[in-house]
Amino acid sequence: MKNKIVAGNWKMNKTFDEAEELLVAIAEGLDDMPLETDVIICPPFPYLEMAADVSEESNFTVGAQNVSHEKAGAYTGEVSAAMIKSAGVDFCIVGHSERRAYGCETDEILAKKVLLLLEEDIIPIFCIGEQLAERESGDQFKVVENQLTKGLFHLSVENFEHIVIAYEPVWAIGTGKTATPQQAQEMHAFIRNLIEKKYDTETAYNTYIIYGGSCSSKNALELFSCQDVDGGLIGGASLDAEEFIEIINAAETCLNSN
Ligand code: PEP
Repeated sequence: MKNKIVAGNWKMNKTFDEAEELLVAIAEGLDDMPLETDVIICPPFPYLEMAADVSEESNFTVGAQNVSHEKAGAYTGEVSAAMIKSAGVDFCIVGHSERRAYGCETDEILAKKVLLLLEEDIIPIFCIGEQLAERESGDQFKVVENQLTKGLFHLSVENFEHIVIAYEPVWAIGTGKTATPQQAQEMHAFIRNLIEKKYDTETAYNTYIIYGGSCSSKNALELFSCQDVDGGLIGGASLDAEEFIEIINAAETCLNSN
């Protein structure tokens, strides 16, 4: 039985002091739990090092929300994989739909980011998912297959073992509209099947495929109980310590009931 992963994506929220307060509250909540779930917190760049310091005394690891597709040099305002690694980061979200939409990130750019992260021993949390219009026209599988193929299938099997995939239907992000457990399971099984065809059965089984999109303490248990849902990427609900801990509790309940 695999562990679950629960990752919090704070997006562009919280000042330094608020971030520290939230991290400490989460760390205190986790202290009381015999934890099997892997908890990852992805705060904004300026708080990464502070988050890594807090994590040393706690049960969570730190992720970044983005990284440059260039290694180093004259790229004003960019942050490299080596920089986030040196700040104590072990994971990094890549290809979040907000970055694909507002940061003009193409599949080719995302494929480069993944390789640069892996060179630094940082695990990419690679986001894929269809827009509402694409689901309504029945194109969701084609879209997801395309994102997966172009963003990740250039990797060797050894590299692919260090990838987490987040299925995030864009219509569910920040909307309060969650995919049903059936919709999530169907897409996660589809993704796993593509990995099996490209690599092998063991790699497909071992790959963590987590769900994101308005996941909360109210629906986490149902979603995480689906056979191919290995946890969640949590946006809004990760900004409240109690709510986030409840979602982690849901992951623990799944693990303990199997
Ligand atoms: C996200 O931004 O990755 C996300 C899933 O957001 P929310 O949970 O707020 O829908």
